[in-house]
Amino acid sequence: MRQFDPTITPAEYKVLLVDDDPAMLRLLSRWLTKAGYAIRTASDGREALDAIELECPDFLVTDWEMPRMDGLELCRRVRETVLPHYVYIVFLTVRTGAAEMIAGLENGADDFLAKPVAEGELLARMRASSRVLELERRLSLLAHTDAMTGLATQRTFYEALEKEWRRCRRSRAPLSCAMMDLDFFKQVNDVHGHPTGDSVLKIVAELLVDSSRVSDTVCRYGGEEFCIMLPETPEHEAAKWADRARRRLASLRVPAGMKDLQMTASFGVAECRDDTQNSEELVDLADQALLCAKRISRDRVVCHSSMVDGAEPTRHGGMRDEVFEGKVARDVMSPLVMCLHEKDTISEAARFLLQSGMASTPVLDAEGTLAGFLSEKDLMTAMIAPDCWQRPLAAVMRPNVICYEENTPVRVIYEFLCRVSIRAVVITKRGRPTGTISRRSLLQWFREWVIKQDLVSPQAFGSSVDACSTASTASGPAPRSLDTAGAFRSDA
Ligand code: GH3
Ligand code: MG
Ligand code: MG
Ligand code: MG
Repeated sequence: MRQFDPTITPAEYKVLLVDDDPAMLRLLSRWLTKAGYAIRTASDGREALDAIELECPDFLVTDWEMPRMDGLELCRRVRETVLPHYVYIVFLTVRTGAAEMIAGLENGADDFLAKPVAEGELLARMRASSRVLELERRLSLLAHTDAMTGLATQRTFYEALEKEWRRCRRSRAPLSCAMMDLDFFKQVNDVHGHPTGDSVLKIVAELLVDSSRVSDTVCRYGGEEFCIMLPETPEHEAAKWADRARRRLASLRVPAGMKDLQMTASFGVAECRDDTQNSEELVDLADQALLCAKRISRDRVVCHSSMVDGAEPTRHGGMRDEVFEGKVARDVMSPLVMCLHEKDTISEAARFLLQSGMASTPVLDAEGTLAGFLSEKDLMTAMIAPDCWQRPLAAVMRPNVICYEENTPVRVIYEFLCRVSIRAVVITKRGRPTGTISRRSLLQWFREWVIKQDLVSPQAFGSSVDACSTASTASGPAPRSLDTAGAFRSDA
């Protein structure tokens, strides 16, 4: 949504003239065209409704008596219809008795002009009513745009996205969303003050609008977060767009006192998939990817499809604080006993996951630092290619790994795993992986905690306790001992 100037000239007003008398239509058209208005005509109420559906006019100047649908019915129908903006309705008629004027006004007319009308009076009435329209435009602008940046508000954005989402569903065209958040923006305010922060937000808004197409919608989602809708754009193209915007932003220099200020931003990008339920969910997918971009580091673009292990996001309600008290990642993680290396082949990786019963595992590089993450799902995607088995893991693993240091409070990781579709994070000690925490490990740990606290008796879990413990040995923590036949290096 681009900024527009609320000072309006006649050329910006679209007028629909409706009369069954062609001579009258010709005369009115001539006067109004000369005055600079954009004119369309219709010869009865029905034709007028069709024209309004195609393009909503600002003024509707209508005769009363017409065949098929008269002016009064037309007026009533227009007021019943949800239109993009207010239509100022003027009756131009010989019927100007008190009873008729009351009927007209009560059915939604704004003004009455008696036939025969003089050119001067018609134009003066048009100018007077344009004050009402201008006020309506100003109010609408205030309601739909963010006062500081002139961008669409979140509400306007969702209205546009909802329309586009439905259109894309029908036409099967791609639709993507990018969520952007400025990095360490609080520091800009803290160091340079709020007015400088505000200037940065305005400059960033301009940059985003300037980088996008007319068909894209840029909104200020809130604070220092922006959301961009990219119709007809698949995720990889949206990611390219986001990366161009990211680089432009990083190279920007904003004057701030003695030296210029530099900014970076992180982006999350997602495309509408077959199972995306609604437009809010599309934004949520982009937001999850943004959260990962922030988590990995900053100043980067993360695609939702590149996130490790895609599953539906989990929502969480309130949880007791005591369970997390004093607990850090080290206390809950499943320690890494063995690990895959990026030079290992896909067949070696498949054997490793099958023998260990693990669903996913971190992958290390030659220096022993984290290079990626591999899940059963990644192998499934690769395994149908005939030459896949001898290829190195580097070709199929996911490079975007979410890491937390061992001393991170468990609550932080719990909240992260509740929020995003990722199922597990890697725990590191001074950058080197030492374990993993999955949704499953948290569930198991929480179950043990409630039993220990006597909040729930072990019997309350009934037969599911057995099912649960069987499952956890089959695919739970990292393997203690493995017949690796030298294929895998130990990373204990
Ligand atoms: P991160 O990289 O994690 O996003 O760090 P951050 O500092 O950008 O994020 P955080 O959420 O801690 O802070 C956001 C800041 O944005 C705090 C708030 O004061 C600032 N902010 C939000 N809206 C405005 C605004 O309209 N004007 C100014 N100047 N600052 C704003
Ligand atoms: Mg007539
Ligand atoms: Mg921020
Ligand atoms: Mg933010």
